[in-house]
Amino acid sequence: MSTTQVGIDLGGTAAKSGRVTHTGEILAERTIDPGFADGPERVLDRLASLFHELGGGDALGIGVPGFLERERGFVIASPNLPGFVNLDVKGGLARRTGLSPSRVHVENDANAAAVGELWLGAGRGERDALVVTLGTGIGGGLILNGELYAGAGMGGEVGHVVIDPQGPTCGCGKRGCVETFASATAAKRRALAAGLPLEQPGDLMLLAQRARDGHAAEKKLMTDIGRDLGRGLGPVVCLLDLRVFVFGGGFSGALDVLEAGIREGIEERSFGGRASEMKLLRATLGPSAGWIGAARVAIAAR
Ligand SMILES: [Zn+2]
Repeated sequence: MSTTQVGIDLGGTAAKSGRVTHTGEILAERTIDPGFADGPERVLDRLASLFHELGGGDALGIGVPGFLERERGFVIASPNLPGFVNLDVKGGLARRTGLSPSRVHVENDANAAAVGELWLGAGRGERDALVVTLGTGIGGGLILNGELYAGAGMGGEVGHVVIDPQGPTCGCGKRGCVETFASATAAKRRALAAGLPLEQPGDLMLLAQRARDGHAAEKKLMTDIGRDLGRGLGPVVCLLDLRVFVFGGGFSGALDVLEAGIREGIEERSFGGRASEMKLLRATLGPSAGWIGAARVAIAAR
């Protein structure tokens, strides 16, 4: 018997959502404005309406940024979701949709996107992988034996592996996390510091194209950034012997010019000469990865 699930990827300006069967057939997709200005209860009302408008399902998964208590389904705090403070998202959505609370699952948004990419995206068919999101920061989602692994809750956060304790201060309060060297934000900072000619300041894809075209300074910068990223992945390789990394987020469009550096960094920080065997894949689901993964997590959580 086919079952269907609804997934929602809740961000500050948009809730991307859809309905998918347990075999991965996408039946409907929709994006709404969650309307945070009206307060969190109204946001939950809208998400419940969205669930019904999509056709409903026998489980609901929701990916949210911020600090969560995944088991209880509470959002403790989220800089991106105004008013979501100690909010019972699982209970609130269960009440409004008529689902049992055990059929509503709240997940970190980066973890949800990782599950999506492994289920229906670039990592389809892989059992073990780390999905790395290269955006404003660096997010991570770890999949082991085909399932999300978050440890006590915050596992997979590869962006906060420290590669230089004397490095720039990170949003997490530590210094020299890999995201302070290799996120999109960091890449722009490094490009400007290197005085690179950009037609539009900070346009990383233009910079990547110049690297691709063989401009030496851009090529060097991309290799340097890639190497720092690889230095963050080295410990992951040592610990888990992962061979598959999937890169998403806006800056992953530069993966082809980052790749040589990433392999150098992994080689430098791990043993066994495995860097050349790594599969470094670019995510394929784009902004749909989050809701698709949230729906998949809801299936698995039953
Ligand atoms: Zn950090």
